[in-house]
Amino acid sequence: MRQEVATTGGGTQTAAARRSDVPPIRTLQVVLKVAERCNINCSYCYYFNMGETSALERPALIDLETVRALAWWIRDGCAELGIGRVSISFHGGEPLLLKPARFSAACTLLRETIEPVAEVSFAVQTNGTIISPTWLDLFADHRVHVGVSIDGDRTANDRFRLAKDGGSTFAQVEQTIRRLVEWSGGDQALGPSTISVLDHRNDYEAIYHYLRSLGIMNMSFLLPDRSHDHGFAADEGDAEAYGRCMSDLFTAWFIEDDPNVNVRQIKEVVSHFRNTAPAKPPVSAEPAIAYQIIVAQSDGTVSVNDSLIPALDWFKGTPRVAIADLSMPDFLADRVFGDIRRAGDTIATACRSCDWRGLCRSGDLENRYAAANGFDNPSVYCDGYKTFYETVCGTLLANNYPVDLFEQRLSRTLETVGH
Ligand code: SF4
Repeated sequence: MRQEVATTGGGTQTAAARRSDVPPIRTLQVVLKVAERCNINCSYCYYFNMGETSALERPALIDLETVRALAWWIRDGCAELGIGRVSISFHGGEPLLLKPARFSAACTLLRETIEPVAEVSFAVQTNGTIISPTWLDLFADHRVHVGVSIDGDRTANDRFRLAKDGGSTFAQVEQTIRRLVEWSGGDQALGPSTISVLDHRNDYEAIYHYLRSLGIMNMSFLLPDRSHDHGFAADEGDAEAYGRCMSDLFTAWFIEDDPNVNVRQIKEVVSHFRNTAPAKPPVSAEPAIAYQIIVAQSDGTVSVNDSLIPALDWFKGTPRVAIADLSMPDFLADRVFGDIRRAGDTIATACRSCDWRGLCRSGDLENRYAAANGFDNPSVYCDGYKTFYETVCGTLLANNYPVDLFEQRLSRTLETVGH
């Protein structure tokens, strides 16, 4: 008898039929919510302050029995689906609320259980207010890459990233980054990376230089969470202002001219035009998913990528299932994962004549969402992307990047996404 599995869309499909729908996956990325509370209160936090408050109904901290069950769920799923790499990213809330002993035991459990089947790597994303020497030893022992959230210099960081009593967190976070940089001893792979949320009022050339002065080599800058249903308030600037932020970052990066400094959003654009960048995947390549993201919560449930929370009406209808009730292959066979892939691979109708569509791909899904028509919209940051791309491409061309190669790269990139 074939097993019936529940689907979020209200119907059922046979497990055998559904599992065959899971494409090959190279790396499973598990965002593991080891702590579902936070010790500070960033006003823009998507996890607690965006209308999706289910985290508060789950255990504050994950227990080791749940970690053990999750490790076996991942191991069995990877074995069945042939997944060779698992990237586990400890998140929260604030993941370091877990305390070092339990965090260390969780790392050991996960690695020892999963590694006979798939290679395991660890990362943690922290607000940088808790780290002690004990944590540094633990990160070294378990080979945990550390990402720190900091929005920039004191002015930028204190706009949103405040303690629960409204006080500044800046001095603690800056000290944490200095410690981590010193601890890494100049090894770029060990050194901390940073994630900063952009705000149109900040000076991003200054922020770039500030982060570089701390010794940061890997940075990422995120656009604030906005959708077509939740756009820009009067004091929040507009899309073009965010394009200028990204352009200022690019200018600072370009002038510094250190190829070892990696700003993720700049690298994504520049790599399209590098001579060595593959313009199109070979047709014979297996259509594998490079990264499949899932989120695991402290209560032993799993769900889709929670960075999609800004698409709130849609997100609230996505599945959250107990790992005790559904295997990983059956969970990944849920139609929602195919829906997310298709939406991400499909350029919005209104973008089909845009020259930048091959680079932009209509932006991140959460910024494309409207309750009225789902993801078939240009990004709310459309004008900002255009400003940013014009700055990067104008700079490349003004610095002797060959025009014919530029046009070739741009048009070839367009081929990969169709009209
Ligand atoms: S969001 Fe804007 S910049 Fe991006 S592809 Fe669509 S129209 Fe072009």
